[in-house]
Amino acid sequence: ARKAALSASTGPGATSDGHKVPLLANVGGPSDVPAAVEAGAEGVGLFRTEFLFLDDSKSAPSEEKQVEAYRQVLEAFPEGRVVVRVLDAGADKPLDFLTPADEPNPALGVRGLRSLLEHPDVLRTQLTALAKAVEGLPVHLEVMAPMVADRADAKAFADACREAGLSAKFGAMVEIPSAALRARSILREVEFLSLGTNDLAQYTFAADRQVGAVSRLQDPWQPALLDLVALSAEAARAEGKSCGVCGEAAADPLLACVLTGLGVTSLSMGAASLPYVRATLAKHTLAQCERAAAAARAADSAEEARAAAQAVLSGE
Ligand code: PEP
Ligand code: MG
Repeated sequence: ARKAALSASTGPGATSDGHKVPLLANVGGPSDVPAAVEAGAEGVGLFRTEFLFLDDSKSAPSEEKQVEAYRQVLEAFPEGRVVVRVLDAGADKPLDFLTPADEPNPALGVRGLRSLLEHPDVLRTQLTALAKAVEGLPVHLEVMAPMVADRADAKAFADACREAGLSAKFGAMVEIPSAALRARSILREVEFLSLGTNDLAQYTFAADRQVGAVSRLQDPWQPALLDLVALSAEAARAEGKSCGVCGEAAADPLLACVLTGLGVTSLSMGAASLPYVRATLAKHTLAQCERAAAAARAADSAEEARAAAQAVLSGE
């Protein structure tokens, strides 16, 4: 019965008092689209384009192959928003032809946007393919870069998008604490932010996301992580721009309410989590989400933050 009730609710994401929070899907390619549509995603908040590059470790896929894959995803959301992330190679997603083999700390090395700026041809092909794929489609295309550290990174990415003649919004992922601390400065160059809470937790706590022994520090309920989310969302609000979350944090229904209370403007997650997040958000007002967010930030540990938010949202 619970399942039936959940699948019946496929409207747009909103709090019980009507504050809209678009609920978007994370996809890895065209094969993930049917589940996203089925779950009522209002668009795509994170299209991880790495999948296209996995077939061949020696070179990038051709422009034609990329146009085809991007178009299939863009066509699925005619009126919606699709946020495409350019290639995020390195660290947990190594690619032979882009990733240096001899780095002592790959997560702190040339990865994400850094490797694209070292291989501008790969970035150019990707952006040109996106420009072609979106031609004639009514979809709202947004393009973002992973691992933006500062304003110079954001500018380099925005310049590359303009040079490719891309008609889309350009954004920066906030995955490095420096980007959250100086979000205002990054927003001089780009039109939106998207918080990658998986990497943001990794870099905030100096805790490798692939090392199970430090997973306690990867908990997205950590108050320090919530502080960085709040800083980013406040900067975006001050600039009249959007700030979404596309990391795992958005898939936890209770945390989704807290993120909303912190000022996050959209939530993107694996399709399977969408009905649960939608249903939980619809049970609480924006003011309750804000109180839960304040209670979570006042805590001293992830466990206390979760318990404090739960107490507020269940009306204890
Ligand atoms: C993140 O880091 O939170 C994110 C969404 O990107 P990925 O998990 O692909 O690194
Ligand atoms: Mg990331």
